[in-house]
Amino acid sequence: MSQHPDFTIPADYLPRDGRLGSGPSLIRGEALDSLATSGRGVLGTSHRQAPVKNLVGSIRSRLAEFYHLPGGFEVMLGVGGATSFWDAAVVSLIERKSQHVVCGEFSGKFAAATHAAPHLEVPSIIEVAPGQGGLPSTDPSVDAYCLIHNETSTGVANELGRPEGPGITLIDGTSAAGAMPIDLAATDIYYFSPQKALGSEGGLWLAICSPAGIERIEATTRTDRWIPASLSLKTALDNSRKNQTYNTPAISTLWFLDQQLGWMLERGGLTWATQRSLTSSGTLYNWAETHELITPFVAPEFRSPTVVTLDIDDRVNADDVVAVCRSNGILDIGGYRKLGRNQLRIACFPGIEPTDIELTTKALDYVIERLAGI
Ligand SMILES: *Cc1c(COP(=O)(O)O)cnc(C)c1O
Repeated sequence: MSQHPDFTIPADYLPRDGRLGSGPSLIRGEALDSLATSGRGVLGTSHRQAPVKNLVGSIRSRLAEFYHLPGGFEVMLGVGGATSFWDAAVVSLIERKSQHVVCGEFSGKFAAATHAAPHLEVPSIIEVAPGQGGLPSTDPSVDAYCLIHNETSTGVANELGRPEGPGITLIDGTSAAGAMPIDLAATDIYYFSPQKALGSEGGLWLAICSPAGIERIEATTRTDRWIPASLSLKTALDNSRKNQTYNTPAISTLWFLDQQLGWMLERGGLTWATQRSLTSSGTLYNWAETHELITPFVAPEFRSPTVVTLDIDDRVNADDVVAVCRSNGILDIGGYRKLGRNQLRIACFPGIEPTDIELTTKALDYVIERLAGI
C-alpha cells in the first residue's frame, strides 16, 4: 500500500457538497429529504399498483416534456442499467450487423458485447484514440449505428450524425441525458442510466424511442430469434406503456429521477440544465487552461460539458491529489483507472452547484501548490 500525503484544506476553499464523482453522482439533499417525507408512503409498496405506476408515468411524461418529444416517440424503461440495455440491444435491436464508434471504455464495452454475440456478424468498428471523438460512416451492410453522446471514461462529447440509409441509430446517452441537447431527428434509440447527469441511483435504464426504433423492436420480435424475456425490448415496451417494468424496479431510483426531472423542469428544463453544466465545466476548463501544472485532456471541439478530464504535470501525482481531496470530503475525482493517465475527472452535472465547482478550483490550487512545493 502506498502512503499518500494528508493535510487539511482551508474550510473557505471547500465545496459545500463534495460529491463530484461521475457516477454514481450527487443526489441533491432536497431529493433525499423528499424520499423520507412524501416518498415514505410509496417505498415498499407494489409496483403494480397506482402509486408506483403514477411515479413511472410521471417520469415518462416529464422526460417527454424535457426533450419536447414529437408525436410517435415513446419513453421506455427497464431494470438493469445501460449495461443490460447493451445486451437487450444485441438481441432485440440489431438485426445482422452493427457499427460502433469506439472512443473509450463504455463505447468499447457495447462493441465487445455485439462482437461476442454468435447470431450477429462481426461488427464494424471505428476506433479513435482516447480523448478524441468520432463519427459513424455510411455502410449499407450495417443495420444499427451505435454511438455515444458523452464518453464518461475520457470526458469526450461526440457530435451525433445519422448516416444515410436504413440503419437505425442507438445512442448511449448515459452521463449526457439531462444535461446535453440531442437532435431527435438523428436519434432512434437514446438510452441511459439515471445515476449520472440525472442525479438518481443506478439499476434502471431508460430509452427514448423514435417510430423507427419502435418498429425495429417489433420486427426482431417477429423473427424466430430466441430473446430472453428480461432482455426483450418488446416486453419492456409493453410494460412501459402500462407504466410498469417487467421485473421489480428500485423505487428509490424512480423517486429520485422523478424529483430531478421536476426540479429541472421548474427551472427551465433542458436549456437551463445544459447551461448549468456549461457554466461549471467552463469554470474548470478556464482554470486549467491558465494553470501551470494542469491541462485539459480533451481538445476544445470534443470537450464534455458534464465530465471534465484534466491532466496533471508529472511533478504532482494525481493519486495524491485525489487522496488529499478525499480526506477533506471532495470525493471521487480520480481519472478513469483503465485510461492510466495522471489525471483528474470531475463531474459537472446539473445537480452540482456551479459555485461548488469554483470552490473546488481553489481547493485544488491549494492541494497542488502544496504537493508541488511551489
Ligand atoms: C456509466 C455508464 C454506462 C454503464 O451504466 P450502468 O448503469 O453501470 O450499466 C454506460 N455508458 C456510459 C456512457 C456510462 O457513463
